[in-house]
Amino acid sequence: MNAVDPTQPYDDQNIFAKILRGELPCEKVYEDEWALAFHDIGPQAPIHILVIPKGPYVSLDDFTAKASDEEIAGFCRAVGRVARDQGLVEPGNRSIANTGPDAGQIVAHFHVHICGGRPLGRMIPE
Ligand code: 5GP
Repeated sequence: MNAVDPTQPYDDQNIFAKILRGELPCEKVYEDEWALAFHDIGPQAPIHILVIPKGPYVSLDDFTAKASDEEIAGFCRAVGRVARDQGLVEPGNRSIANTGPDAGQIVAHFHVHICGGRPLGRMIPE
C-alpha cells in the first residue's frame, strides 16, 4: 500500500471509512459518539488497537486543524478509555499517530495505535 500524502483531501474510499460505514468488518472493542476502536489486522504487539474519529480527517494534522473542540475532547477521552479498559495503564502502553510518508502512514483516515502487553523497548529503533 502506498504511503499517505497528508496534504491531500480526505478520500472516503479509504479502508477505515469503509469500516465506519459498516462496509468492511472489524473486531470492535469500543464505540461512542466520537470514536470507534478495533483490533489492528496486523498486530505488532500482544495488544494492538486502532482508535479512529468518526469524522473525516486524514491525519492528526488535519484533525487538530479542522475538528471541533468537542470532537477532539471526545476522541482523546476515547483513546484514554480504551487503554484503561484494556488494562494497559499500570503496565504501560504506547500511543502512536503516524502522519505521512516519513512515518509510514498507509491509511488516510486519522488513527491512533494503542500498543501494549509486553515491554515495547525504545520509541524509535536506532
Ligand atoms: P498506519 O501505518 O497508517 O499508521 O497504520 C495503519 C494500520 O492499519 C496498520 O497497522 C495495519 O495493520 C492496519 N490495517 C490496515 N488495513 C486494516 C483493516 O482492513 N482492518 C484492520 N483492523 N486494520 C487494518
